Amino acid sequence: MPSCSVNRFEQALRKHGRGELAAERLDTLQVNVGRLCNQVCRHCHVDAGPHQTGADVNMGPEVAAIVERVVRSGAVRVLDLTGGAPELNPSFRRLVEAARDAGVHVMDRCNLSVLLQPGQEDLAAFLADRRVEVVASLPFYRRDRTDRQRGAGVFDQSLLGLRRLNELGYGSRDDLRLNLVYNPTGAFLPGDQHALEREFRRELTDGLGIAFHQLFCITNMPIARFAEWLHRSGNYESYMAVLANAFNPAALEGLMCRNLISVAPDGTLHDCDFNQMLGLPVSAHVPRHIREFDSAVLARRPVVTDSHCLGCTAGAGSSCGGAVT
Ligand code: SF4
Ligand code: SF4
Repeated sequence: MPSCSVNRFEQALRKHGRGELAAERLDTLQVNVGRLCNQVCRHCHVDAGPHQTGADVNMGPEVAAIVERVVRSGAVRVLDLTGGAPELNPSFRRLVEAARDAGVHVMDRCNLSVLLQPGQEDLAAFLADRRVEVVASLPFYRRDRTDRQRGAGVFDQSLLGLRRLNELGYGSRDDLRLNLVYNPTGAFLPGDQHALEREFRRELTDGLGIAFHQLFCITNMPIARFAEWLHRSGNYESYMAVLANAFNPAALEGLMCRNLISVAPDGTLHDCDFNQMLGLPVSAHVPRHIREFDSAVLARRPVVTDSHCLGCTAGAGSSCGGAVT
């Protein structure tokens, strides 16, 4: 639960004459199917990795079946699947099929290298057949910076994954959206999204023949593995000051918690994936588990905030879809 004292984010809201944050509608069900991942990235905000195999941190079939019911009910327009590497959860494909049957748009937050994993040889074709939007994380267009953050060899694997998607039409066809996600490799804010997209296009498209639709710039959130790194490197306080000093009230309108609800592997509901990782459930006044899902109530809920929320309102703002202003 949020502390009784006013957190740094609330302080910033008050300073700019803003009231408490609240949702304004519910378009997207963002489902975190678990922490199992084939990578171990330094900035990972969910502490994912190949070691995260437990039933306590990965969504089981019972909860997945409830998610499927909600998706089939037409309560949301978008199913946003995340993890870990969501594709490694045995329920992933079933959820995708259910959503597409119901006419729900599906987004897969893909780390690209998972497309090369044993047993996933048909994954790219599966995604293309169902017209799943792929949101692919690629911290940078250079091997050294990407591998430093994500592990040796990840850049080359990511390019192979991108080429596999491109061969199917991803990145060039309108119905096969391929968006890339950039995040800074240190304790600083991302640069201008349009300028970075031009750089990525020059290096990846012009230089290497990789097609993609858009680049999303995401601010590193001061939680989980990235927060540990900030503390270890002595950068935590200065990074929080950077976020607070860059508070941009214009970013409040586009915050993802205003139109999305996040489902944890155990079915509990959170205002976003970051709150989920911090163990902050939605307000006690609204349904707190997917089995009690009520879209009308959740669409008007107060949002639970804490100091990490400054990561979403710094500079151009940040959400799962990149800059918000
Ligand atoms: S950042 Fe993504 S790809 Fe990297 S360990 Fe975390 S979930 Fe896996
Ligand atoms: S971390 Fe961002 S998306 Fe989540 S509740 Fe805070 S402001 Fe909203």
